[in-house]
Amino acid sequence: MERDLKQLIAQMSLEEKAGLCSGLDFWHTKGVERLGIPSVMVTDGPHGLRKQRASADHLGLFDSVPATCFPSAAGMASSWDRGLIRKVGEALGAECQAEEVAVLLGPGANIKRSPLCGRNFEYFSEDPYLSSEMAAHHIMGVQSQGVGTSLKHFAVNNQEHRRMSTNAEVDERTLREIYLASFEGAVKQGQPWTVMSAYNQVNGEFCSENERLLTGILKQEWGHEGFVVSDWGAVNERVAGLAAGLELEMPSSNGINDVKIVGAVRSGTLDEQVLDRAVERLLAIIFRAVDERKEGASYDQETHHQLAREVARESMVLLKNEEELLPLAKSGSIALIGALARTPRYQGGGSSHIKPTKLDDIYEEIGKTAGSDAKVSYAQGYDLKSDEVDDALIAEAVQLVAQSDVAVIIAGLPDRYETEGVDRSHLRMPANQVRLIEAVAAEHSKVVVVLCNGAPIEMPWIHGVKSVLEAYLGGQALGGAIADLLFGDANPCGKLAETFPMKLEHNPSYLNFPGEGDEVHYKEGIFVGYRYYESVDRAPLFPFGHGLSYTSFVYSGLEVEKQEMLDTETVRVSLDVTNTGNRAGKEIVQLYIRDVHSTVTRPVKELKGFVKVQLEPGETKSVSFLLNKRSFAYYNTELKDWHVESGDFEIMVGHSSAAITASETIHVTSTVPLTKRFTRLSTVSDLMGEPKAAAIVQQLTQNTILASAASEQNEMSDTMQAILASLPLRGLVAFSNGAMTEEMLDGILDQLNQNQA
Ligand code: BGC
Repeated sequence: MERDLKQLIAQMSLEEKAGLCSGLDFWHTKGVERLGIPSVMVTDGPHGLRKQRASADHLGLFDSVPATCFPSAAGMASSWDRGLIRKVGEALGAECQAEEVAVLLGPGANIKRSPLCGRNFEYFSEDPYLSSEMAAHHIMGVQSQGVGTSLKHFAVNNQEHRRMSTNAEVDERTLREIYLASFEGAVKQGQPWTVMSAYNQVNGEFCSENERLLTGILKQEWGHEGFVVSDWGAVNERVAGLAAGLELEMPSSNGINDVKIVGAVRSGTLDEQVLDRAVERLLAIIFRAVDERKEGASYDQETHHQLAREVARESMVLLKNEEELLPLAKSGSIALIGALARTPRYQGGGSSHIKPTKLDDIYEEIGKTAGSDAKVSYAQGYDLKSDEVDDALIAEAVQLVAQSDVAVIIAGLPDRYETEGVDRSHLRMPANQVRLIEAVAAEHSKVVVVLCNGAPIEMPWIHGVKSVLEAYLGGQALGGAIADLLFGDANPCGKLAETFPMKLEHNPSYLNFPGEGDEVHYKEGIFVGYRYYESVDRAPLFPFGHGLSYTSFVYSGLEVEKQEMLDTETVRVSLDVTNTGNRAGKEIVQLYIRDVHSTVTRPVKELKGFVKVQLEPGETKSVSFLLNKRSFAYYNTELKDWHVESGDFEIMVGHSSAAITASETIHVTSTVPLTKRFTRLSTVSDLMGEPKAAAIVQQLTQNTILASAASEQNEMSDTMQAILASLPLRGLVAFSNGAMTEEMLDGILDQLNQNQA
C-alpha cells in the first residue's frame, strides 16, 4: 500500500517521533494510535523462533512458544548450500507469520576469529565469502515470506568476553577484507530489513554510535535501505547514536532516552531532520511488515521437523572414515554409548535458545533406522553434568562394547561449555568423555565417534577411532539425521566452514584473544582461519572445506574462459565433476585464488567461489563459477577501494582448502593505475618499479660512490645492487661526490611526479 510517510511524519509531534526510536518493551516497537502507526514484534533468531509468552529476557531464560529448532549456523554453513539455507529461511518466515512476528533477529554474520568465541555456534564461518553467502540466503528466505530479518552483530563482535565494553582494534584492510566483507555481501544481496549494531567498540567507538559504520559504510556505500536496531542494551549515548545512524534502540529505555532526543532537538544539538529521516526509515519497515502480514497463517510442524532433519543431514561433516567403517550394516550388534544419545545437545545457550516442537532421542532414532535385524544396546558412559571420570560407567560401556560388532559413541560439549555471554578458555572435551573414548578404542577396533558441539574441539583420541562424524548442534531432528548418515540412508555431504586446529595455541589469534582489559588487538590481521594455516603451512587437525562422502569425486577439464582480462570484466571458470563411486552423493567444489606476485601481503589462497552438486554413481556434471574484480582484489587503503594489482593470478579448484586438484593461471590487468608520488625518501627500487621512471634511475645512480666503486671493479655485485636499491633518493646527493645537487634532485622529482600525473 502506498503511503506518504513524509506527510505522516509532519503530523507527528516531536515526542512521538522521539518515542518511535526506542522500543515499547522487550520485543515491540511503539505504535502511535491516533495516526494509525502500529506496534510490531521482533524476536530471536536465528535458527528458530523464540517468541516469549509473558516474562521477557534476552538471555534465553524464560519460556517461549514451541518452534522448529533448525541446526545452528555453524552446522548450517557446513552444508554450503545456498538453496537449502534459503528454504530454512522460508520456513522460519512462515513460523514468524504464524506467530505474528514482524522481524526475526538473525542471521549472525560475525567471523569466527577464534574457536573460543562462546557464540561461534551462531555464526557461519571464518571465511567472509562463505559467511556472507549463507547470511544472504537466510535473509532472502525469511524475507520472501514478508517477514524481516536483523543481520547481526554489526560489526567486529568476535568474542563474548567483555562484549558490552571491549574495543576491537582492527586495521582498515582487515576490517574491509574480513570482518565487514561478511556483512557487505549479505546486505547487498539480501537487503535485510534491519541490521543490528553490536555491543562492542570498533577502533575506539561504540558500534551503536559509529557514524562511519552505520551511515558511511552501511547506508551510503552499501545502500542499506532498512533501519539499524541496537543490540539489546547496546546504546551508549542515545543522541550520538541517532546522529550516527542508529534508528531504533532496543529494548525500551523507559522513556529516558526519548526525553534526551527531544531535549537535543529543542536545544539545537540535534537537527530535527536527522530524527525525521530515522522515523521515515522506521515507518517504512513497520508498514511493510503490516502490509505483508498474512492473517491466519499457520505451518505444519511435522513438515518443518522433516525439513530440520534434511538440513541436519546436509550439515553434518564426515571428518574421518578409515576402512570405510561407515556406513554401518543394518544387522549385527551395535553398542551405542554416551549420555548425549539420550539427552541430546542440539542447540546453544543464550538468546537463540528456543523451545522445539519436538525433539529426537538419538538412541531411539538409531534403533528405528537400524531395523529389527540389528541389536542396538545403550550404555551411558559418562555423566553429562560433570567432567569427573566415572570408572564404573566406563567399565559398563567397555563391557557392552566388548560384546558388540561395532561401537558408536555420542560425545561432544555439554551446554555449560558453549553459550552466549561466555567464551571458552580451551578446546578440550570433558575429561570423562575423553577417557571413555580412549577406553572404548582400546577395547574395540571398530569405533565411530559422533560429535555434538558448536565449535572446534581438540581430539587427542583421534588415532584410536576409525570414524568421526561432526554433527554440530543439529537442531531438533538431529537424531534422525545422525541415523540416516550412520546407516547410509543418506550420504554425508557437509564440509567444514571453519578450521579445526590441532591445538588452540596454533590459532592465529591465540596471543591476542580476548585482549587485555577492554582492548583487543586483531594483530593477526587478514590471516584468519585457513588464510593463516595455509600461508604458514601449518597442518590443522581438519582443514577448512574438508568433508568426506561415502562415494568419491574426480574433477577434470578445468577451463578458464580467457587467459587475460581487465579488472572490469568477468571470467567464467568451469570444470567437470564425476561421481566415481557407487552411491549417489553431493560434492562441494571450492574455488580459491592466489595473487602470484603481490606488493601487498596476501594469503596463499582465498575462497572466491563454491558450488554444491548432486551426482548419481558414474554421472558427470559440469559446474561453473563467474569471477569478477572482487575475486582478485584486495582492499587498498590509499585508494579507499578494492584494487587488483596487474599480474598473474592462480585459480585453484579443490575438495577443500588443503586438497587442491587443479589450477590455471590468468593475467588480470588493472584499469586503475596507482599513482605514486615520489619524494626524497622514495628509494631507488621504488623508482625502478615504475616503468616511466626506470630510465631516470639509470642516470641517477651513475654518479654515486657505489657506482664508481663498481666501475673500478668492473661489476656491480649483488650486494651493491641491493644496497643501492634501498637507498633513499636524498642519499644520491650525499653519495654523489657533489655531482648531484639538491636542486637537481628536486627537478628530477618534479619531472617524475608530473609524469605520474
Ligand atoms: C543478543 C542478540 C539478541 C538480543 C535479543 C542480545 O543479548 O546479543 O543476539 O538478538 O539479545 O534477545
